[in-house]
Amino acid sequence: MKSNRQMPMLPRGHLPVVQPDQGADKVRFPDMADLMARLRFSTSDGRIWLDDQRMLLVHAKALGSLRREMIEALGADVARGFLTRMGYHAGACDAQMARKVRPTTTLNDMFLVGPQMHCLEGIGLSEAVRLEFDVERGTHYGEFIWTSPVEDEEHARHFAIGTEPMCWMQIGYASGFSTEFMGRPVLYREVECQSMGQAACRIVGRTVEEWGDEAERDMHYLQAEAFADGLSVHGVGRHDEGALPVLPPQTVSEEDRLVGISPSFNSVCHMVKRVAPTHATVLFLGESGVGKDVFARTVHRLSPRCGKAFVALNCAALPEQLVESELFGAERGAYTGALQSRPGRFERADGGTLFLDEIGTLSATAQGKLLRALQEGEIERLGDTHIRRVDVRVIAATNVDLREEVRQGRFREDLFFRLNVFPIRIPPLRERREDIPLLMNHFLVKFTRRHQRTLSGFTQRAIDAMLSYDWPGNIRELENVIERGVILGTENRAIDAPQLFTSGEQLGERRFAVNREGKLVASNPAEFIRESDPDRDVDRVSRQISNLLVGEGDDSDRVSLDDIETMLLKKAVERAHGNLAAAARLLGITRPQMVYRLKSRGIAHE
Ligand SMILES: [Zn+2]
Repeated sequence: MKSNRQMPMLPRGHLPVVQPDQGADKVRFPDMADLMARLRFSTSDGRIWLDDQRMLLVHAKALGSLRREMIEALGADVARGFLTRMGYHAGACDAQMARKVRPTTTLNDMFLVGPQMHCLEGIGLSEAVRLEFDVERGTHYGEFIWTSPVEDEEHARHFAIGTEPMCWMQIGYASGFSTEFMGRPVLYREVECQSMGQAACRIVGRTVEEWGDEAERDMHYLQAEAFADGLSVHGVGRHDEGALPVLPPQTVSEEDRLVGISPSFNSVCHMVKRVAPTHATVLFLGESGVGKDVFARTVHRLSPRCGKAFVALNCAALPEQLVESELFGAERGAYTGALQSRPGRFERADGGTLFLDEIGTLSATAQGKLLRALQEGEIERLGDTHIRRVDVRVIAATNVDLREEVRQGRFREDLFFRLNVFPIRIPPLRERREDIPLLMNHFLVKFTRRHQRTLSGFTQRAIDAMLSYDWPGNIRELENVIERGVILGTENRAIDAPQLFTSGEQLGERRFAVNREGKLVASNPAEFIRESDPDRDVDRVSRQISNLLVGEGDDSDRVSLDDIETMLLKKAVERAHGNLAAAARLLGITRPQMVYRLKSRGIAHE
């Protein structure tokens, strides 16, 4: 680790001189015209666009007063958390844009989109003192000087100089941008700040791994809902200091660690934390693979029942009759093969929590029995008339629309209402893309440990592919893909895209793709397939046509009817994805005519 610069504690009024170019050559920023071109003011519908993201022009003073109110009403720590996460979100969005805007430049210039956007978005001026990173090795060192930061200016309007840095939103932005860019958690910390009396702010960024323990406190601000053990949630802990209690990672098993930072992830965590201490039935909704089981275990862990059993059953994994005996138990001879009496999961979960996954697949009889268990706390084993009392909290999960199942008569309405007391929808991974880098890192650590391998991280190409992929199988698919990459990867090297995506996944259709040179290109599949030369032909011919029609340019650039026809034929085939009949229709000719013309020009068409 390099400099272990401590947060300086300076008496008020002491202003040290900051030398921006201290230590190293200043990093030169590329021209930012490409970024400015992405900013559009659409006055006809009242929108401002930065590429495809809607932006908002806010008065700095208005932000300042909101910030002041938050600090006064919620305390500095909570306010800091909110603003840091807001900045993180913006930074992650801009990092996605960086890949699109500068796909063919150096990685360095692509990274500098971050500090340049910082300037363009009016947050302040950012100068790079030192910037060294290696995506594949997973190392990152960034040091920047910020001048005229909007948060410090606004802070100074309402508060005196203190001992804590105040550029919260901005530091969140830098962390979010770098994490998304590097594909692993990067934390920026403000080591000098105008609000602490220094002449400018100085930020230093490293990967969370490289920071080690130093990062712990700053990391709190990135977690909206810190998941503590049961005790802290019930009021014992550090609530009084304003900081959220955070459980040391080792106390939660790796399987149960919830990983994420996106707003939708945070809102799920918020709901989980709210409902956990109650006795309410919880219903998790969401596609398969989103991690419903992990959330269910978290509800149990944060509940007063955490000392008792957590029993899980996937209702779809067993045949119908077996599910019933699994749930409620069976007496000897209740059915063929029931050689001895045994308790069901309800009895085993007595005093604790029962998690029923894929609840929509339960048979009508089982639904009736489950309803009775929920309403009366009573169950009967199969082949038994003895009523047993159980105290079980039920957490259910489903990936089907239960309302629709009720409409179709496949699911009991009364049971549905009983289960639907506190529904929580877990978003699919494609709706929480900011979480992908954190999850990548989480599973990389998990599987390198499990398979005893040493891999330095992911290549840029692999990161691009992971961030652009649609993840229909959600977190479970991501987990499998990374495990595969860890196994296939070359020791001491970074995992590359071909080692991750080996089962024909459709890559990069939505946003961008990696072309043959390993560079990112726009997502249009046709563009991806096409070589660059035909494009240039199209440009040339279109220019010639407009020269002729509009009378621009000089006559030396003459147009050839033959060229135009060739271009139109090629384009039509391309537009019709190789379907010649469809291509012929586009040009108002018959298919045989089309084939003849293609042949006569030697254009390959099948
Ligand atoms: Zn500052």
